[in-house]
Amino acid sequence: MHPAVISRLAPTPSGFLHLGNAFNFLLTWLLVDYMDGHLLLRIDDLDAPRVETAFVEDIFVQLEWLGISYDSGPSGPDELLSKYSQRLRKEHYFETIELLRKSGHLYACQCSRAEIRKLTTTGIYPGTCRRNKYPLENNDQAWRVQVPEQTLVSYSSFSKKIKTINVTQNMGDFIIKRRDGLPAYQLASLVDDLDAGVTLVVRGQDLRTSTAAQLYLAKCLNEKKFPASRFVHHNLIKNDSGQKLSKSKNSFSLQMLQKKYRTPTWIYQETAKRLKLPFHEILILKDLKEVFKIHMDLKPDFLSVLD
Ligand SMILES: [Zn+2]
Repeated sequence: MHPAVISRLAPTPSGFLHLGNAFNFLLTWLLVDYMDGHLLLRIDDLDAPRVETAFVEDIFVQLEWLGISYDSGPSGPDELLSKYSQRLRKEHYFETIELLRKSGHLYACQCSRAEIRKLTTTGIYPGTCRRNKYPLENNDQAWRVQVPEQTLVSYSSFSKKIKTINVTQNMGDFIIKRRDGLPAYQLASLVDDLDAGVTLVVRGQDLRTSTAAQLYLAKCLNEKKFPASRFVHHNLIKNDSGQKLSKSKNSFSLQMLQKKYRTPTWIYQETAKRLKLPFHEILILKDLKEVFKIHMDLKPDFLSVLD
């Protein structure tokens, strides 16, 4: 018997999906499928000005092309808007922000991006406005959460190794409510994961800092279940010049790959390759699923790829 596993695909519709997104979706789908878990689709569309209809549509088109099914979430762009959009959940995010405010975790920050760049070379906000004690009620200011010196959070990797991250060093006092009044990504993402009862998070290594931020917020909110989740931070797929893929129209966008290869076989093989699985025999998703299952059953070395 496996424990109940709930995980999510959480794309942001700020560009066209690329090979890196496909890898993340396939790995998440494979893990959830292997553990008989529940997979949900959550589209991170809170930041309306960055969301374009074409990008939202692309998510559904590519999931279908890849053959990735999920158990709950929007079935298409219309249902997203009418039932699942994060914009419908704003009040709920603000309730959580209110809890943080009441427990004294938040302070107002009036620094502009340019000012912050002058204050720090690392991009980590040094907590300058903590001592200014601006009234939180003012408009046109961000709310940040205080992260005390040497704040550490720990989480369990897929193979249940305990990993520790320093939140102070990696995130500093990060933003909870943006200057434009919207809940910040870290807050919205955590609230969504808490509501869905997520117990497995699969994301790229570049988002380890988000894991740190969200675990710290969960601690501030006295949440016990989410911190006990398992976190997989996988390698990122780079382009030929060694840079992380971006969501612009490039040769690794799923749209382009679909035009080039017609079937997703190449993507399944690339996924297997990156998981250090034998890939030559893989043609369809079922093949990938079987190879994955055999190696999961055998475990030892293969699992280290998931740490
Ligand atoms: Zn400030």
